Amino acid sequence: QSQELSQAQIDYHAALQALVEDGTRMVCTGRMHTDRICRFESLCYSTEAEEFIYFHSNSSVMLPNLGSRRFQPALLDLSSVEDHNTQYFNFVELPAAALTYMPKPVFVPDVALIVNRFNPDNLMHVFHDDLLPIYYTMQQFSDLDPEARLFFMEGWSEGVHFDLYKLLSNKQPLLREQLKTLGRLLCFTKSYVGLSKITTWYQYGFVQPQGPKANILVSGNEIRQFTKFMMQKLNVSLEESSGEEYIVVFSRTINRLILNEAELILALAQEFQMKTITVSLEEHSFSDIVRLISNASMLVSMHGAQLVMSLFLPRGATVVELFPYAINPEHYTPYKTLATLPGMDLQYIAWQNTNREDTVTYPDRPWDQGGIAHLDKAEQERIIKSTEVPRHISCRNPEWLFRAYQDTKVNIPSLIQVIRQTVKSKPGPKKQKWSGSLYPGKVRDAKCQASVQGTTEAKLAVSWQIPWNLKYLKVREVKYEVWIQEQGENTYMPYILSHQNHTFSENIKPFTIYLVWIRCIFNKNLLGPFADVLLCST
Ligand code: UDP
Repeated sequence: QSQELSQAQIDYHAALQALVEDGTRMVCTGRMHTDRICRFESLCYSTEAEEFIYFHSNSSVMLPNLGSRRFQPALLDLSSVEDHNTQYFNFVELPAAALTYMPKPVFVPDVALIVNRFNPDNLMHVFHDDLLPIYYTMQQFSDLDPEARLFFMEGWSEGVHFDLYKLLSNKQPLLREQLKTLGRLLCFTKSYVGLSKITTWYQYGFVQPQGPKANILVSGNEIRQFTKFMMQKLNVSLEESSGEEYIVVFSRTINRLILNEAELILALAQEFQMKTITVSLEEHSFSDIVRLISNASMLVSMHGAQLVMSLFLPRGATVVELFPYAINPEHYTPYKTLATLPGMDLQYIAWQNTNREDTVTYPDRPWDQGGIAHLDKAEQERIIKSTEVPRHISCRNPEWLFRAYQDTKVNIPSLIQVIRQTVKSKPGPKKQKWSGSLYPGKVRDAKCQASVQGTTEAKLAVSWQIPWNLKYLKVREVKYEVWIQEQGENTYMPYILSHQNHTFSENIKPFTIYLVWIRCIFNKNLLGPFADVLLCST
């Protein structure tokens, strides 16, 4: 991957003239800073001021033109973490004429994607905040092709997982520090700034306790398209399986240890009659871990970032997440949320150590490894006595860190029992036939006919045609839901019907207007849209 910018591709004088005459042009998508991505021509960056620069000229464009709202709080989020005040993007403005007095610009010929990585040393953050969002931001804009270049502006060094970022494009990603070596004033010919948040499923608890995002928009299908891409880039093929089924224990070797790992492995092997192997980030290459996980029947691991690797598990596999003492599994669900995304087709099981004798605490370690010696005595005692970490904001909460960095002797019978409640026979990839969750279209040609019998009774005969897409589908069960609402009333009578017509007589009054709502339902839970409301007068 080439690191230097090839100036050969650029007619320098033409580029400079275009910058001076046309200035910067920006057009963005998104209504708020939290959902905005901007496309720029001739966005510049001063490596001395560490500021982006927008040059005004007669031809410059700035959409949205927010005025000072651009600072309330920012134009956009540079990372995929929503509205984090350390991740904001903005630029300073200058007239293009100021270029005369500025350092000679160095032009970036590649189409650039300019973003912040959120926490490049933590594997969960790497996949969830950076790799998936970058991959799908590149899918969103067609000139972000494999020849585009990534610019990481958060200011970190490469970090331990840099090789993964390199897979996303054919060009070496550049870090903020490296920009200084390229020149004092950089100008990006064409660039995109910001990241799509459409694939993220978890919020880390900066303003409210952590948990699944309120409106998850990604399914297992898109996750697996991404992992397929990553596996191709890593040269891990899916077809390598020897057919033998096995369990992977993903161990941590520095902290949050499983103290009886050998015993655990033996017990799993015996219980499920499967080979059981261990992997760790310290002892295996990333490709080896992906290769092993992508064919595994079950992944067992302590709560922790390494569990994001369940992204690579085959459909039908089981994730078993182990939680140390006093940590409520329901309060920390990034991996549960991932495993249970629609279409991920993974089984998820949480086990928690509830035995105080089976935990080993480290009160004297530094605070960021869970030490509590820096707290006052009463607080230390309260934490040590507590049987559950209360819900909290921020991952730096000392009680959380104290409990998160305990080592655990796993109680084997209790773990096996919890797994057995979910995994009845052999765990692992079942050759599931594609059940496809396709939704019905609207029912068609809905009609009603009223008949009045006397002064108190009436009937309403309603009929409709099947949704248009049904004739191309094999659907196990097709039902119709009909709501009958008297005009002006808030309530309605709901019916579930199997046929394409029905005569309603219950509670139907003469000389009344009814609104009839009809929709189709496939296989009990795939609800289609309502057809245009039908007005029926008796
Ligand atoms: N890590 C590891 N082995 C260890 C401890 C940590 O591989 O013994 C990895 C972990 O998977 C993560 C990073 O180091 O990618 C940071 O771990 P930390 O405990 O800070 O975060 P957590 O796993 O709790 O998210």
